[in-house]
Amino acid sequence: MKFGTKVIHAGIEPDPATGAIMTPIYQTSTYAQSSPGQHKGYEYSRTLNPTRKALEDNLAALENGQFGLTFGSGLAAEAALLHLLDPGDEVISTNDLYGGSYRLFTKVFSRYGIKFQFVGMQGTAEIEAHITEKTKLIWVETPTNPMLNIIDIEAICAVAKKHNIMVCVDNTFATPYLQNPLDLGADIVMHSVTKYLGGHSDVVMGALVVKDEALAEKLYFIQNSVGAVPGPQDCFLVLRGIKTLHLRVQRASENAAKIADFLMQHPKVDKVYYPGLAHHAGHETAKKQMRGFGAMLSFNLKEDTAEAAAKVLEKVHYFTCAESLGGVESLIGHPASMTHAAIPREERLKVGLTDSIIRLSVGVEDADDLLADLDKALG
Ligand SMILES: *Cc1c(COP(=O)(O)O)cnc(C)c1O
Repeated sequence: MKFGTKVIHAGIEPDPATGAIMTPIYQTSTYAQSSPGQHKGYEYSRTLNPTRKALEDNLAALENGQFGLTFGSGLAAEAALLHLLDPGDEVISTNDLYGGSYRLFTKVFSRYGIKFQFVGMQGTAEIEAHITEKTKLIWVETPTNPMLNIIDIEAICAVAKKHNIMVCVDNTFATPYLQNPLDLGADIVMHSVTKYLGGHSDVVMGALVVKDEALAEKLYFIQNSVGAVPGPQDCFLVLRGIKTLHLRVQRASENAAKIADFLMQHPKVDKVYYPGLAHHAGHETAKKQMRGFGAMLSFNLKEDTAEAAAKVLEKVHYFTCAESLGGVESLIGHPASMTHAAIPREERLKVGLTDSIIRLSVGVEDADDLLADLDKALG
């Protein structure tokens, strides 16, 4: 099955009871048993729910995996994965990662004796230097936020395999339409379903997808034992959102490419960070491991101040100033004062995150309107 067919059909059957084409919202916590222990595969909705099952099977297919698991948020999915680890275990993470993941690692799981190390993943040398016999997991996020750095998934998986270390890739920015980490050697794919998979800024949800059955069994045990599962209504909304994932990401990526070209020419703009641009440091790796360059981009201003950036954010009309990303509507953000405000300024500057960096989550509106909006706001 090709991707555009999978989003509509994979894991989704007409409802066996009624023939309903759309997966019903099975808004039930429990299921009738004809005799103790005699049931139709469903006992209790923390363990399994038919609406959730359809979504989990669909997600597994989209990522070319075998097993999908959904959670109440992206961070809940990450927490479930980290529950595989024991005190004393070590995790090597990219140093350029989603702030909420960083907080979960350093402020929550490190208290349980798990050690996190944050390293640069442009090349594998820093990873190799940090591997010990206690290293159990390598955490990769690519493209990164907000600098849109690209990490070579295949190269990192090759190193991990030599040392028998699991690799998890946060595939939120790329989406399974553009990148499938399991095909590149990763063991686990994580998604903030809140973003492109949901796609309409109306659900918070997370997911993990794996190929290996033994690993899946361990994760299902944690999903059921810890219990951070999403409700059936949200699963329905995501199933609905996914049906247009390929169309949305395709259009949003086209819009982003046009905006990147426009910003490159603009006299007020200094640098543009978009992996689709030939001068981007990760362009060749992106071409190798992605089927397109996505719809996230960042840029900074020649007048490199937070005040200058704020003026642009105040003047745009179709771009809404907000956190989050991946919805049909275009969003604009100022990482230094919003998503990345907790990072000290010197640390930010080291990775190129200057005071005027503006991040765009480009939506699926008409590109002409988006360009005119930015042109007006920059002028
Ligand atoms: C939003 C996000 C998360 C966290 O997901 P939630 O659904 O907000 O819990 C993790 N990683 C990335 C890259 C994200 O953008």
